[in-house]
Amino acid sequence: MRVASHVLGAQVAWKVPVAEVRDAEVTIVGGGAIGCAVAYVLAGAGYRDIQVVEQGELAGATSGQAAGLVGQVRATKERCLLAMASVAVYARIERETGYPADWRQTGSVRIAATAERVAEFQALAGVARSAGLEVEFLTASRLAALCPMLDTTQVKAALWCPTDGYLQPNSLVTAYARAARDRGVTFATHTTVTGLRIMGGVVRGVRTDRRTVETDMVINAAGPWAGAVASLAGQHLPIVPVRHEYFVTRAVAGWHGGLPVLRIPDIRLYARAEGQGILCGGWEPDGLSLDPREVTIGQALAVPPDWDVLSGFARDLATFAPVVTEAEVREVFRGFPAFSPDGRFIVGPVPGVRGLVMAAACNAHGVSGSAGLAGHVLESLQPDPSPYVQSLSPRRYYPRTWDWESARAQAERIYETYYSLPPQHSRFGSTSS
Ligand SMILES: Cc1cc2nc3c(=O)[nH]c(=O)nc-3n(C[C@H](O)[C@H](O)[C@H](O)COP(=O)(O)OP(=O)(O)OC[C@H]3O[C@@H](n4cnc5c(N)ncnc54)[C@H](O)[C@@H]3O)c2cc1C
Repeated sequence: MRVASHVLGAQVAWKVPVAEVRDAEVTIVGGGAIGCAVAYVLAGAGYRDIQVVEQGELAGATSGQAAGLVGQVRATKERCLLAMASVAVYARIERETGYPADWRQTGSVRIAATAERVAEFQALAGVARSAGLEVEFLTASRLAALCPMLDTTQVKAALWCPTDGYLQPNSLVTAYARAARDRGVTFATHTTVTGLRIMGGVVRGVRTDRRTVETDMVINAAGPWAGAVASLAGQHLPIVPVRHEYFVTRAVAGWHGGLPVLRIPDIRLYARAEGQGILCGGWEPDGLSLDPREVTIGQALAVPPDWDVLSGFARDLATFAPVVTEAEVREVFRGFPAFSPDGRFIVGPVPGVRGLVMAAACNAHGVSGSAGLAGHVLESLQPDPSPYVQSLSPRRYYPRTWDWESARAQAERIYETYYSLPPQHSRFGSTSS
């Protein structure tokens, strides 16, 4: 297996025309999927004076490493609706803006290998249908027709969502950014926010490594660094970076880009075709997190591939796709997506600091859910957000009744149980939603 060159924080090819950091009504910190989606959505909603400040290149951190899976089948109706709203954006963004997200609506198949999992799928199908999302259980012959590359010996049920798919994260971020730029947003790349100017509990400006500028609102979309950015305002929020990785193989027989996305929760894996190769990632039983208190502004969050973990993914996938054992790994992608202790986004104004707004803790949904999440950020700025959007508020971490060690352990557990069975279907329980 060859070691790949991608490192979190590495530069990507697309360059945005450089603008200087400037005085602006709204300053978004972070040019990943979330920061660029928020810029696009806010500019579309009539906010006129927005800049994005990014310490590296756009999509140069976590977003550029993502697998691009977009799944709408979720354990709660709200999450389903968020994912459906996001898919609607990906399906039309090129038509509306002229910039493609390379969205491929291949459908997805979720495989159950145990009776408990079949029961969970039935519950998931109920939630999906209550949200208006089309899903169906596949017959064996239909599964074989849709996924001829699968060994279906162990399959007990297959849940099909025809409107799921995948996109190329760099393309999505580029599309958001270009469309936002057409709406007047400026992008100051290679500019690090190093301080926040707050007077009388109100945001007045940001300090950067280039200059200090005035601003009325700071939207913190700094991904795994979002906790460090919040701490510039003296705020403590449990935003925990947890390692995640996947491999992509060279071309193998039977795999091509039109195949559905696969999720096999009983072995904690997802897979899809990347070109004619296999992309396979998974959720480790022992999540590896960074201590949020030690993540500092501007710190490079490098992470080497863990070949023990990646080989385990390949071994497990071989039960369903034996060809993976002969495949050569072409590249490994990895990074530290940010998790919260309750597995929910942290979105909206920070209590006690007027003008500071969070758009963080994506719990590894930050690419697929970016359009919907940006909509939640916009809604959180309106006078009367829905109860669901209010429930995502950072307010739930105030006053500070939590401690760092437990918050970190809980966030790791969210990662580890990403595909776990919910309590009614499992002896082991689950927290993810
Ligand atoms: C291997 C892997 C696979 C994944 N697969 C998927 C998937 O299939 N589907 C999915 O939905 N999600 C996936 N994810 C999760 C997804 O990548 C994240 O949820 C998403 O990228 C978060 O976007 P973001 O904009 O919040 O963070 P980021 O992309 O990390 O963006 C934050 C940005 O803020 C900038 N920044 C930080 N501090 C400062 C500062 N002080 N000043 C200026 N700029 C700053 C950073 O440079 C960075 O560019 C995956 C993640 C990984 C690592």
